[in-house]
Amino acid sequence: MALPLCSRCRISLKHISPKPLPLALVLTRSIHLPPSAPRRTLTSATWDPKQPPVMLNDYPQPQRDLEKLPLAVLLRGIIMQSAMSHPLLMDAASAMARKNIHMLTRNALLRFFLDKIFYAQFCAGSTEAEIKNTVSSLKALGYKGVITAYAREVDHSNVTEHSTTAEQQSAHQEHVAQWLQGTLKGIQFANSGDFVALKFTGAGPECVRLLEAGKEPDLVMADAMDKICETAKAQGVRLLFDAEHHVQQAAIDAWTMDLMETYNQNGDLVVYNTYQMYLKESTTTLAKHLERARSGKFALGVKLVRGAYINSDPRHLIHDTKRETNAAYNNAARILATQHLNDPSAPKVGVMLATHNAESIQMMRTLRQEQVQKQQPLAEVAYAQLMGMADELSLSLTQRKNNVDEENIQVYKYTVWGTMDECMMYLLRRADENRDAVDRSLLSQQALWRELRERLFPSSISA
Ligand SMILES: Cc1cc2nc3c(=O)[nH]c(=O)nc-3n(C[C@H](O)[C@H](O)[C@H](O)COP(=O)(O)OP(=O)(O)OC[C@H]3O[C@@H](n4cnc5c(N)ncnc54)[C@H](O)[C@@H]3O)c2cc1C
Repeated sequence: MALPLCSRCRISLKHISPKPLPLALVLTRSIHLPPSAPRRTLTSATWDPKQPPVMLNDYPQPQRDLEKLPLAVLLRGIIMQSAMSHPLLMDAASAMARKNIHMLTRNALLRFFLDKIFYAQFCAGSTEAEIKNTVSSLKALGYKGVITAYAREVDHSNVTEHSTTAEQQSAHQEHVAQWLQGTLKGIQFANSGDFVALKFTGAGPECVRLLEAGKEPDLVMADAMDKICETAKAQGVRLLFDAEHHVQQAAIDAWTMDLMETYNQNGDLVVYNTYQMYLKESTTTLAKHLERARSGKFALGVKLVRGAYINSDPRHLIHDTKRETNAAYNNAARILATQHLNDPSAPKVGVMLATHNAESIQMMRTLRQEQVQKQQPLAEVAYAQLMGMADELSLSLTQRKNNVDEENIQVYKYTVWGTMDECMMYLLRRADENRDAVDRSLLSQQALWRELRERLFPSSISA
């Protein structure tokens, strides 16, 4: 059967997919996306939270951001993005997976799809060789480094009740030991200058209980935390403590700040805390932590995120609108990047903008370009996106560093490692996130398809 030509770009479907026609049609659907909205130029001076947000398409893209992406990764990205842009399909798959992860991963065909497409897209691997291979291929693309996290999560809905305190204590020690071992392995896989991300709740149910009761870490936990920080410091690896559910967050902040006070001395940045800017209280929390770092004379490590628990955290604690969250995020980023300019006693900060939001990144880049032009000292700022997502954004940032007006932009990719079973909860969250971020997924699809077209028909992309 002759394969039809796409009526708008004249690409024969056989060039796009050797698969049977229905899949090829599904895959090509994404080529023709709505044209970009008119561009609005954003500078740090003109940035105004009351104005309508800059559309994602406004991010000024060079022609071939994805040029360096290996073909297999490009095709895998297209398949993933196409599958994820079907909310009904993703809802059904995610509901099925949540109900019976173990059965799903035992089905050979599904396991093949999950392994070769889904797992490969977002996860670094499970053995040292696989992880190191993924890390070096990411660095070969121009990223400054990687953020790795051990994917194993404790299933808190399935916690065994122990009848005696001794049994409970022994189970707690075992959970913490597993968490410690996994984290130390992650540090060992990382290179100097890389980051390791970790969750306190990964240390088991007793640790969750301590966090939710607002208690200090007990001796078992405190000992593990010290071992992790000391190993990371000795290897030049930095630690990003994740933000989690709001009910645990006050204790996470307190534990992480205590670690910073110990390990971020003399300008060292070993420990970073995460700030969820969708929470109304986060601007105040950040101001208090800056003040504590100033008076305690230690460096403040800040990973800035919008927040991933909007469906479970109490809604009244979260900004009422996305625009308010955006404004809080951009405002915090701006404060962190400028607080040292007029205040000689300002603490040193290390900022990681962990976001796929092009507006926030553009705002920070413009601000720093202005600082470079005025020959002002720059705060330490890096950008991070998840592996398998927003590659066009990450790679476009890595290509900016030759511009004379720009700083050397540091971009990191975040990836988890572990067996497929260990990574399942993380993979499900990625599916949810993609389903909720339709505009951004469309932009990513558009960029991937443009790159494929350019490879099939060089110069088909007009200026
Ligand atoms: C490297 C990396 C590390 C991360 N680590 C963490 C972590 O430790 N803890 C954590 O919680 N999250 C973490 N995240 C996820 C992050 O919080 C966001 O959920 C995700 O990145 C999407 O937000 P965005 O900034 O990329 O952009 P966008 O897609 O522009 O923003 C989406 C976000 O806006 C907020 N939002 C959406 N609708 C509304 C609304 N109606 N009202 C108010 N706010 C709204 C939500 O936070 C939502 O996730 C991480 C993300 C990355 C890239």
